[in-house]
Amino acid sequence: MAKRTLTGTSLDTLVSLAKRRGFVFQSSEIYGGLSSVWDYGPVGVELKRNVKDVWWKSMVRERDDVVGMDASILMHPDIWVASGHVDSFSDPLVECQECNRRFRQDQLDSEACPNCGGAFGEPRQFNLMFKTFLGPVEDSSATVYLRPETAQAIFVNFENVQTTSRKKIPFGIAQLGKSFRNEITPGNFTFRTREFEQMELEFFCEPGTDEEWHDYWMNFSMDWFKKYGIRGEKLLLRNHEADELPHYSKASADVEYEFPWGWGELETISNRTDFDLKAHAEKSGKDLSYFDDQKKERYVPFVVEPSMGADRSALAFLADAYDEEGEGKEMRVVLRFHPDIAPFQVAVLPLSKKDTLSPTAKRVHDLLRPHFNTQYDDTQSIGRRYRRQDEIGTPLCVTVDFDTLDDDSVTIRNRDTMEQIRIPIENLESAIRDLLNQMRADAQG
Ligand code: ATP
Repeated sequence: MAKRTLTGTSLDTLVSLAKRRGFVFQSSEIYGGLSSVWDYGPVGVELKRNVKDVWWKSMVRERDDVVGMDASILMHPDIWVASGHVDSFSDPLVECQECNRRFRQDQLDSEACPNCGGAFGEPRQFNLMFKTFLGPVEDSSATVYLRPETAQAIFVNFENVQTTSRKKIPFGIAQLGKSFRNEITPGNFTFRTREFEQMELEFFCEPGTDEEWHDYWMNFSMDWFKKYGIRGEKLLLRNHEADELPHYSKASADVEYEFPWGWGELETISNRTDFDLKAHAEKSGKDLSYFDDQKKERYVPFVVEPSMGADRSALAFLADAYDEEGEGKEMRVVLRFHPDIAPFQVAVLPLSKKDTLSPTAKRVHDLLRPHFNTQYDDTQSIGRRYRRQDEIGTPLCVTVDFDTLDDDSVTIRNRDTMEQIRIPIENLESAIRDLLNQMRADAQG
C-alpha cells in the first residue's frame, strides 16, 4: 500500500477547508461572529468525538490502573483558593497607551505595540478565570468560577473515587470536559480559545516513584500521538525551564506539534507532587492521605498529570492529515486520517440516484452502519463525491452500480491509493475490516 506523502499546508487553507466541509464554523456567524469562539459542524464533531473516544479508550477502558469520572464545571469557590488559581492563575497584561489594545506581555517580540507602535503602560497580572454568580443574588458571596482546568475536580474527589473503586496506588483518575480561560490574546483558529475541552489524567503514586511515572507518561503521550497517525518528525517533547514551571509543578514537559505557524503545545505532562492533595486537605479540613496496606504506612500520594487539549489535538490531527496530490485540474486534496480519527470510516455511494439502485445501496448502508461510522451520499457526480470524501478523509468508499443488481458485488475505493476492488456484498464487512486494519498499520507516525 502507498505510503503517505503529506505535504502540509497554511493555516488559511485549513480554516477554509474546515468551513467548506463542515468541520468548524465561526461562532454566532450570522451576528457577525464572536471573536475566537468556534463551533464544530457535522464533520468536525465526529473528528473531535473520535479524538476524545480514542483518548478515553487508551486511558480508561484499556487499562486496569485508571478509572474515569465526570464532574460539574461549577465547583465550590474555595477549591480555586486552595489550588492557587485565585492568587496566581494569571498572565502579565500590558495596555498600549495610544490605541488601548491589550496584549500578553510574555508573547510580545518588541517593546512597542504591534498594532500602532505606541508605548505600553506598566504590566499587571490579569487573572484568567471567568466569574459568574450561583443563584439569584449577584454579590461576592455568590461568586463562582467556570473551571479553568478539569484536574481540581479529580483532586477533591480523590477519596470518593479511591474508596468506591477500591483502587490501590499507583492508579489514576481520568476526566474530559470543558474548561474556560479568559485568554488575553486567543488566536490561531481553535489552538487558543476561551472555551475549550481538556482531557486530563491525574495519576496517584507513592512519593519517590513519581519521577519514574513522569518518564512513563511522557513516553506514553508521545507514542499515543504517533499511534494515531501524527508524524514523528512533527512532534517533540520539550522540558520546561525552571522559570516556566507552574506553581504546583516539580517538573513539566510539553508535547509540541509543528503547526503551520510554528511549534505549539498539545499536552503538558507535569509532576504535581503532593501539592494539590495537601492544599485541599488543609483548606477543607479533610484528611486526603492514603493508607498503603502492603507497606503499612500512610502518605499523601504524589501526582503525575498528562493534560491534553481536545481542540488543539483535533487541529493537529487535521493539519497533519492534510495532503495535496497531483497538479492543475487533476489536483486532489485528501486528509489522510488514521481510520479511528477519520470523521467517517466508510461512505456508501450509489452510482446514480435512480430508484433502481437506491434500495440496494440503502441495504448495503444498513449492513455497514452498525459496525462503522458511515455516510450515505447520492448527490452530484460520482467523481465529485469521491473528491468530497477525500476532503473529509473518509478511508473507504463503497460504490453500488448497475452490475451490483446482477452480481451482488460492490466496489471499494481506497482513499490513499485510489485503488478499486470488487467484493461480494456478503464479504463486505470483513473486507472493510481488513482494509481499515491495513490503513491503521500504515498510519503509524
Ligand atoms: P499555553 O501555554 O498554551 O497557554 P498552558 O500551558 O497554560 O497552555 P495547560 O494549563 O498545561 O496549558 O493546559 C493543558 C492543555 O490544555 C494544553 O496543553 C492545551 O492543549 C489545552 N489548553 C490550554 N489552554 C487552552 C486554550 N486557551 N485553548 C485551547 N486549548 C487549551
